[in-house]
Amino acid sequence: MQSKEWDFDDHSSSLLSLILRLRIGHTKFAKQWMVKNEEPLHCIACDVQLSVKHVLVECGNFYHERIRHFGPGGFTVKDLLGSEDVGSIKRVLDFFREIGLYSDI
Ligand SMILES: [Zn+2]
Repeated sequence: MQSKEWDFDDHSSSLLSLILRLRIGHTKFAKQWMVKNEEPLHCIACDVQLSVKHVLVECGNFYHERIRHFGPGGFTVKDLLGSEDVGSIKRVLDFFREIGLYSDI
């Protein structure tokens, strides 16, 4: 299967911790401003505060990337982050990699 090529076993604990951060919404891009005592990060396109939900399912700016990784329409944060399936987790992380936020999860 494709997921094996991804070497999931070698990185599974760190990848799972990324997914956990996304699930609870405590990512660097969404929360680190609190720790650093800075202004919250805003989506440049929508002028709303950046959140996991906004990036994953709301922001029109990432529409094409979203379709490329998750297929067309109608999913929730839970649909994307709730699965333990390696393929699902890989798709989410690949999405964040493509939009340039992977290192800020
Ligand atoms: Zn946006």
